[in-house]
Amino acid sequence: MLVSAEEMLKKAKAGHYAVGQFNINNLEWTKAALSAAMELNSPIILGVSMGAGKYMTGYKTVVGMVNGMLEEMNVKVPVALHLDHGDYEGCKKCIEAGFSSIMFDGSHLPIQENIEKTKELVAICRDKGMSLEAEVGSIGGEEDGVVGKGECADPDECKKIADLGVTMLAAGIGNIHGKYPDNWEGLSFETLDAIQKLTGDMPLVLHGGTGIPEDMIKKAISLGVAKINVNTECQISFAAGTRKYIESGKDLVGKGFDPRKLLVPGTDAIKATVVEKMKLFGSVDKA
Ligand SMILES: [Zn+2]
Repeated sequence: MLVSAEEMLKKAKAGHYAVGQFNINNLEWTKAALSAAMELNSPIILGVSMGAGKYMTGYKTVVGMVNGMLEEMNVKVPVALHLDHGDYEGCKKCIEAGFSSIMFDGSHLPIQENIEKTKELVAICRDKGMSLEAEVGSIGGEEDGVVGKGECADPDECKKIADLGVTMLAAGIGNIHGKYPDNWEGLSFETLDAIQKLTGDMPLVLHGGTGIPEDMIKKAISLGVAKINVNTECQISFAAGTRKYIESGKDLVGKGFDPRKLLVPGTDAIKATVVEKMKLFGSVDKA
């Protein structure tokens, strides 16, 4: 059964480790991520962007697939199904479809409107036992069409949003989505420290986990980051595994064209990436 991300993140924050959010795109992605979590006895958050939801034909399909897998694979570790960067309408749809967690990204809205809509969603989520992630400041990167320097959130604004009763808070600390440019200046631990001092026990979320050096990830966890989003890295792993299979001509040998063979190396590569991240984040045996 899907669970809210609240308990796993509270434990993570208290225990000084982080739970990974791994974005899924299809059945192979989901199977790989869940297999990794089971093997390492780790809690996991499956992330679904609005685009990925659309790709999979809609949120109900995603909920049906994930719930089916939890049962058929006999998954006992805590699993949350989370909408990544949802707009107001997307959040409403996922609540209805049976997600156990949502992120409301009101970062592009005027702060007052962001607060109003967040308040409304907090009340709904509380009622349904779901977790809610809010974002303060915007996290730059390729998702906006430009690769820019990541912005840093205003700690006072973070405190304001945290006090609305959200479960976890994403704040820009110089991180960006997608691959990091060569001239990236690194994470702003000063900003992170200031945010944690004002928000206390609130689990903080680090977006754009791909390409942040390991020592920076560890330091971020020590300063209150309890959830780390991984998306691009699994995509790169999947593409590399699949490319190798095709380029070595394996699809042309025997029944190598069978999708149940052709998609295996990519799927295994996703699983290996998830395993590696869970070890780095410290969530092994924390289920
Ligand atoms: Zn993000």
